[in-house]
Amino acid sequence: MIREIEAKTMLSHRKEPDSWFGVKYNMNIYRGCQHQCIYCDSRSECYQIEDFNDVLVKVNAIPLLRRELASKRIKGTIGFGSMSDPYTQIERKYQLTRQALEVIAEMRYPVHMLTKSDLVLRDLDLLKQINEVFAIVSFTLTTADDDLAAILEPHAPLPSARLRAMQTLVENGIPCGVMLMPILPFIEDTPENITGIIEATHQHGGSYILPSMGLSLRDRQREYYFEKLDEHYPGLSDKYRQAYGESYQNVPPNIRALEEHLTSLCRQYHIPLRVPRYTPPAQPQQMALF
Ligand code: SF4
Repeated sequence: MIREIEAKTMLSHRKEPDSWFGVKYNMNIYRGCQHQCIYCDSRSECYQIEDFNDVLVKVNAIPLLRRELASKRIKGTIGFGSMSDPYTQIERKYQLTRQALEVIAEMRYPVHMLTKSDLVLRDLDLLKQINEVFAIVSFTLTTADDDLAAILEPHAPLPSARLRAMQTLVENGIPCGVMLMPILPFIEDTPENITGIIEATHQHGGSYILPSMGLSLRDRQREYYFEKLDEHYPGLSDKYRQAYGESYQNVPPNIRALEEHLTSLCRQYHIPLRVPRYTPPAQPQQMALF
């Protein structure tokens, strides 16, 4: 179900840009996410999204954003996509992500877009404009295998479509990279899967990878994930219960070997394991009076 709501605020902020994504201001135009990845952490109770199948549309997002940005004293990177993908199917109708980018371009703020969708290409013109200040696009890839992704991320565009979008963005001067997270234990935790992601990133012009292999599971998100495992991989949820019990962090048993493999391949392809940062222009020095 799609519901329109009025938001009270649009931007959450941090004192310093966060160490992973380089983001100072975070915003989510939608609540709930139509991509419906079976492992999505946003289903957890702490985020208070009653039904993750519903999508709430913040219809007053654009005037709110304009007002909030006008009152900011510090220019910092605005992050899209932490709790809900900014480019799900509903964005085709509402175009709120596009309108937000128009405001950001006009007010000359830097952005970091995080998505699983090639719909981001629709906004190439705005991203180019914003990139006069700073713009990067990160695509999440937990596998480069389209068939596997169709099970794990059922309504998101396939990895091959994400990678083609990445290549087009890179050819147009927008730096892109990959969020390699999470890696699902007993499904995606093979050296071949990691190799597939890194080689595909390299082949499509990605210039960074941020890995985090552990899968976090808690409360109703765990229940949903196990339901989906039972549908697609009978017996696997029991293997999780035996291996991890009620743990929040579910790390692949071979994580060390996988991390070593990833580090060595990224070194071979000269891909840094860090997201590029926006650097504010240096302030002109004040002239001394005497
Ligand atoms: S795209 Fe991201 S926010 Fe959307 S369902 Fe998948 S993991 Fe969750």
